[in-house]
Amino acid sequence: MKAAVWHGHKDVRIEKVPVPAPGPNQILIRVDYAGICGTDRHEYAGPNFIPTLTPHRLTGRTAPLIMGHEFSGRVEAVGSDVRGYEKGEAVTANGSLTCGVCEMCRNGRYNICRKLGFLGVGDDGCFAEYVTVDADKVFRIPKGVTQRQAAVAEPLACGIHAAHLVGDLNGKLVVVIGAGIIGIGAFYGAKLAGAKEVLVVGRNDHKREIIERIGGRYLNTTDRDLNRYVEEWSDGQLADVVYECAGTQETLDLCIPVCKPGGTIMVMGVFETPPRVDLNTLQEAERKILTSQAHINEIGEALACIEQGKIDAEELITKEIRLENLVEEGFEELLRNSGRHVKVLIHISE
Ligand SMILES: [Zn+2]
Ligand SMILES: [Zn+2]
Repeated sequence: MKAAVWHGHKDVRIEKVPVPAPGPNQILIRVDYAGICGTDRHEYAGPNFIPTLTPHRLTGRTAPLIMGHEFSGRVEAVGSDVRGYEKGEAVTANGSLTCGVCEMCRNGRYNICRKLGFLGVGDDGCFAEYVTVDADKVFRIPKGVTQRQAAVAEPLACGIHAAHLVGDLNGKLVVVIGAGIIGIGAFYGAKLAGAKEVLVVGRNDHKREIIERIGGRYLNTTDRDLNRYVEEWSDGQLADVVYECAGTQETLDLCIPVCKPGGTIMVMGVFETPPRVDLNTLQEAERKILTSQAHINEIGEALACIEQGKIDAEELITKEIRLENLVEEGFEELLRNSGRHVKVLIHISE
């Protein structure tokens, strides 16, 4: 089969490799669409999490390995212990790799497993014609959802999971800093949980149209000062919840001043360098800081919301490419024009 294999920074090769065989508890899936995640772009350009010298803590793998963890596909074959799936069924999966025995795995919070890994980082991923996934991480795609739409469910599940952790969002004023797919996932998570209004904040106008079309309010911080805007928008009350979805010092610094006393800051961004946190401003008004990691079973919720028309997945797909062109039309395009894209999909099956 064809696969995008990571060998090193800026060294991703489209190669012919053997089709993997499913283990006893696994399903072999023929991939229809795969999504390029911010983490994949990091693996391409660096710094990377794909192990090169020290074997992965769960799987023992090191590079080279096949990239990718967001996808939709169809069941091709099932392992000897898997029941209930038939060849051809439309499925997607949670791409996390978990130990199954640590305290968090046993309590159902496998997204924070002690040995957590991801397909495409700790084991062979889905930028390939076939991928194997543990059967308990597979989700059926509802009839009313296309394979293209289903490939976007994974990043949206991150936003739904974060909203679950925030708790009561009903009637709340929410600010989301960062207008990429994680910010849009946070937007949907808050909206679906009943937020009164969600302001999404970016640094240019590329995303304004998309955010407004899906029912958000958009602010370009190069046009207007965020603090003053939020003061006015909230009648001086400030935001109940502020999401950090960009992972930079600059965006983290924007969060605290617009969060009301007693309010909540939810960090979803992944930081390249450890940021400073202004704990004094947090502490002086009992602002809370929460963090969110991936998701548990929220892909099912994301798929249901797409089916019910509560999430417009098509709106989020800004480009579709073929696997052969992954480097130039995918990674390099995202490095040149990251601000223009929400989700770039790779159409893999014929
Ligand atoms: Zn992802
Ligand atoms: Zn575990």
